[in-house]
Amino acid sequence: MRLVLLGPPGAGKGTQAHRLAERHLTPLISTGDLFRGLARDNTRVGKLALEYMDRGELVPDDMVLDVLLSRLSEPDTIPGFILDGFPRTMAQAVALDEGLAREERQLSGVLKFVLPDEVVVKRLSSRRTCTWCQRTYNLELKPPRYDSVCDADGAPLTQRGDDDETVIRHRIEIYHRDTEPLEVYYAERGLLRSVDADGSEYEVTGRAEDAMDDLVGT
Ligand code: AMP
Repeated sequence: MRLVLLGPPGAGKGTQAHRLAERHLTPLISTGDLFRGLARDNTRVGKLALEYMDRGELVPDDMVLDVLLSRLSEPDTIPGFILDGFPRTMAQAVALDEGLAREERQLSGVLKFVLPDEVVVKRLSSRRTCTWCQRTYNLELKPPRYDSVCDADGAPLTQRGDDDETVIRHRIEIYHRDTEPLEVYYAERGLLRSVDADGSEYEVTGRAEDAMDDLVGT
């Protein structure tokens, strides 16, 4: 299955993307994670991307497309993939379709995770990430067993630079302005399914699985 996950930052796309990728044994590609990895490796692209990310701005399309299309050309993505955080602009969506069409591939569908803005702000303000394995926690919904350290490896938890409230509100604005128009682009082709993202991880995964079944017509 070739799946795109849409939805505002903080709607739980990342968590659901991991769960769906594991269940379907499909590679998960998150452009945010790719850039954070490049930044940790101190590459030029990574350092430049981080400047946009820390301000809550979108990384320019040409940089995103270089990184994403090169990842999609790797052989493990031939049977399928799940995209988290891409596309975020119309230009990216069109370039994705063109890139796939060149290899006689096409998207199977798009899941849109729906969550009200105020819930997003609350969720992201209490998100913490492991400095070692990048696992995420939520201080209210999914707290770590011991204060401020990761359950898996004991490494300290940190707040992502772009999870500050002012930056969060800016990211939500950008989502409405640049990414929401993609819903119509995909809906017109019958590829879009909505998933209510308010609920436990397990409930939301169940809804996402139902939407995927609906897309493939089972
Ligand atoms: P995420 O991990 O998906 O929340 O993305 C974190 C940040 O990475 C975003 O706020 C953007 O600055 C940048 N980013 C990730 N994916 C994209 C994309 N497809 N287009 C532009 N910027 C992106």
